[in-house]
Amino acid sequence: MGTSLPIFYDCLNCPSYCCTYPRIPVTQRDIARLARHFKIDEDVAERRFTKRGYDKRERVLRHQKDEHFGTACRFLDTETRLCTIHGSRPTICRSHPTSSNCGYYTFLMAERRDQGDPEMIVRAYNLPGDTRVSGD
Ligand code: SF4
Ligand code: SF4
Repeated sequence: MGTSLPIFYDCLNCPSYCCTYPRIPVTQRDIARLARHFKIDEDVAERRFTKRGYDKRERVLRHQKDEHFGTACRFLDTETRLCTIHGSRPTICRSHPTSSNCGYYTFLMAERRDQGDPEMIVRAYNLPGDTRVSGD
């Protein structure tokens, strides 16, 4: 019988910083899953939900405006901070983070403790004008 490792983060107590990464790459299987979820064709899903990534073969999730981090994945509910397509989210979202720790969560909790504010959202801006993922 395996022993599960402790986990030192709580995604439900976090503003979903990882959903604001500029580069959230998706596979063709992810796009097909999104197409099934929204009952649309795969090529429509690809155009509507993704854009060119770091190279011409890579597709990354499109973003929307976000008051806390500048932009965030278009599927993030920016009020509740929850994923609106949880059951159909891309593979990379299911596997993140890949360790017992989340660096942002450690940072967030340290700042909340230091500043005595359990609700504060620690900002970490994405670089404005990062043209490597600007395929809009
Ligand atoms: S993995 Fe980290 S940054 Fe992402 S939602 Fe969970 S605690 Fe927040
Ligand atoms: S698809 Fe959902 S889990 Fe993945 S980045 Fe977007 S909001 Fe976050």
